[in-house]
Parts: sequence; C-alpha cells; structure tokens
Amino acid sequence: MNDYIDKTLTKLRERDPYETEFHEAVQEVFASVGPVLDAHPEYRDHALLERMIEPDRIISFRVVWMDDHGQPQINRGWRVQFNGAIGPYKGGLRFAENLSLGTLKFLGFEQTFKNALTGLPMGGGKGGSDFTPAGKSDSEIMRFCQAFMTELYRHIGPEVDVPAGDIGVSSKEIGWLYGQYRRLTGTWQNSVLTGKDPAYGGSLLRPEATGYGAVTFLQEVLHHENDTIQGKRIAVSGYGNAAWGVIKKAASLGALPVTVSGRDGYVYDPDGIVTEEKINALLEIRADSHRSVQMYAERFHVPFFPGEKPWGNVEADIWMPCATQNEVRAEDAAKIIRAGGKYYMEVSNMPTEPDALHLLKEAGYICAPSKAVNAGGVAVSGLEMSQNRTGLMWTANEVNSRLDGIMKNIYRSSVEAAEAYGFGYDLNKGANIAGFQRVADAMIKQGWF
Ligand code: GLU
Repeated sequence: MNDYIDKTLTKLRERDPYETEFHEAVQEVFASVGPVLDAHPEYRDHALLERMIEPDRIISFRVVWMDDHGQPQINRGWRVQFNGAIGPYKGGLRFAENLSLGTLKFLGFEQTFKNALTGLPMGGGKGGSDFTPAGKSDSEIMRFCQAFMTELYRHIGPEVDVPAGDIGVSSKEIGWLYGQYRRLTGTWQNSVLTGKDPAYGGSLLRPEATGYGAVTFLQEVLHHENDTIQGKRIAVSGYGNAAWGVIKKAASLGALPVTVSGRDGYVYDPDGIVTEEKINALLEIRADSHRSVQMYAERFHVPFFPGEKPWGNVEADIWMPCATQNEVRAEDAAKIIRAGGKYYMEVSNMPTEPDALHLLKEAGYICAPSKAVNAGGVAVSGLEMSQNRTGLMWTANEVNSRLDGIMKNIYRSSVEAAEAYGFGYDLNKGANIAGFQRVADAMIKQGWF
C-alpha cells in the first residue's frame, strides 16, 4: 500500500505547494499507517486517504474592528471544519501574528486524530485569526472578539462546531466571544464554546487539563521504564496554559521544572519553579499585555537568556516543549542530545521538526507525540460539553479522575496499536494508528462524501 500513500502525498504537495506544515503532519500520520492499509484493502477502495486530507469545509472571512484611536483595523478570520465523522467539529481558536490557513489546516488535521484518541464524540476543527493580542488593550481585544464572532456565529453551534481556546485565546476571550454569540442568537447555548469561566458553565479544571493530562501521560511512560517523576528536572518551553499546567502538576509530584520561555527569551530557575508564588507568576505574565518572561527572572533573581530557547542550554532529564509548532529544530535536538536526559514529551502541537524527531529517536530518547500527550485539554472540553448538556457541574475531583482515565486509555491504546502492527514500543506510531483507525471506521460506515 506504500504506493497509494506516496501517490496521495505527491498529489497533496503538488496541489498546495506552500503548506509545508500541513504536508509534514499528513506525512507523519501516513508514515504510520502502511500496515493498517495492508490489513484493510477496503480503505483504498473507499479513497480514504484522499478524503481524509481534504477538510470538510473552510470558512474564511474579514474581521473589521475599531482600535483605541477610533481607527478601523482589518484582520483575517478562519474556521477549518476538518472532519466531522465522529462528532461536531471541535478544536481551538488561535489568535496569533502571521497565522496562516496552512497552519490551521495542519492543526485541524492533527485535531481530528487527537480528538478521536480521547474516545469522546468530537470531530476535528481549528480556527483563528492573524490578530495578535500582545500589546493590545482589553477593550481592543473585546471589540476584536465581538467582530470575529459576528461572522463566526452562523457557522457554529452545539451540534455543529464547538470552538475553544488555543494560543492567544484564554477564558477571557472565550467570554467575550460567547457574550457576542448570545447577543446575536438570542439563545442560551453555552455548549457552543468550551474553556468558559465556571461562572457561566465552564468546567472546573479545564485550564489545568492540558498540562495535567500531559503529566499523567508522562507518568505512564516513566512507569513503563520503571522510573518515577520524583526529583526529575524538566525543561519546559512556553509560559501559557499548557506550560503552567505541566509545571503545576509536575511540581506537586516532586519534580523540578527549571525553565519557561516566551518570545523574549527563556528563564532558568535552578531551584525549580515549584512554589505557589512562582507558579502564579506565570499567570501574571499571561495577563500582562507585554507577555514577557523576563519579568519572572527579575522578580525571582534568576538568569534570563534573551532571544534564546531552553533546548540544550540546561541540564534536564525530561524535555517538554509547550510553546508552539516547530520550536525544536535539528540543531536544537543535537543540543538536547549533548545535554542528556532520556524523555522527550511533545506538549505543544507538533513542536518538533521531522529531522529533529528523527535525531532524538535515533539517540534513544523515549518520545511521545503531541496528539496523545496534549489531548487532555480537548478531553476536558468534551467533558465540559457533557456537563452543559446535562446542566450538572462536576467537582474538580470528578473531572480529574475522568481526565486521568482518558489519558491512561490513550496511552494504552497507543501502545497496543503500535505493537499490533509490528512497530514495538513506539508511541508516535501507535497514537497515529489508533486515531486513524477510529476516524477511518467512522468515515467508511457513513458512505462516500
Ligand atoms: N486548542 C486545544 C487543542 O489543541 C483545545 C481544543 C479544545 O478544547 O477544543 O487541543
């Protein structure tokens, strides 16, 4: 079946030559599924691969909003409804400078398999805008969110498409988006968005979920190696929701997260980001319009390295990129390998360039892919949808134990899928196969479209 895979990839590259991130994401999944296609020749008869790489639909729109000087500002908005075979489209909205449709296609594709891995009924989608919240006032961000939702509202709904947050979109922005949705539709349908504040139906533990889930996954990996998290030094990148959750949970389990990073550089805290004050400082960075991690270094008198990333510059046992895609390149991987450690857990969506991942695997690192490791975030979004539907609010403990169960299941099904198809203990291959099979079966059973 490799010729079928190659042909599909060639066609994809010819058709959209500039969407390299999307091609890499597709290639990574397809590189895992050769044996699955051999075992299921009907997938080819149903043109499954060609159908899987074409989003169900893409919505692209103009967003006009007024800045604090009374001037009109124009941005682009998108929603990529990638695959709805398993449930309503589900995935975050990203507000980031230079965001492109190609990036959103890659993220929507990844989201489809990630959501399938959670076992919850959620299809895959992603959206956002090239609007950058950094340096904007709250009133500007609110007006932007209202303008963005003024177009988006007609394309989403609790049974159609359920957006959430992502980079640049936290519960504050979700609140302004939801307010505008409610104003436009005149309805109370709060399961149209997740990541809401608990004041109007948000799930407890949703902010923590991505990071907590990632650490649960890490613990499963450590357990497999007869190792424990206690005392481990963890190099983390980013300072946002994912990094904060990883640090909070890892610190509570006796590990030492030693770095955070932002657009301005990285901070190295040799004693560990382990006290409540230090962990809360990450929230302050996020809330500040400059979003600089240097603030942390100044407050706690620790070194700050302007313009640099933590990769390979510090000693660590575990490397956890939590910032953004392609943040670990081949040269970073080489430095990580020189610095040591044994575990490499992707938390941000596809943070590792393909060459870099290859180097780390060759060097014997135990690697785990973002679509499995960071699935706890969207999993708790799925739990938020269930709570909204039933009108019941679960306690933090209830959410936590469900999240734990989902993460352990993702780990187990990834291990089993890789073994079943002859890849041994390979979490990347296993997560790709397990996610792919769930989406494939749902698509085949619903006929051609
Ligand atoms: N943006 C997050 C992700 O990449 C969360 C999506 C959601 O909760 O719908 O999975």
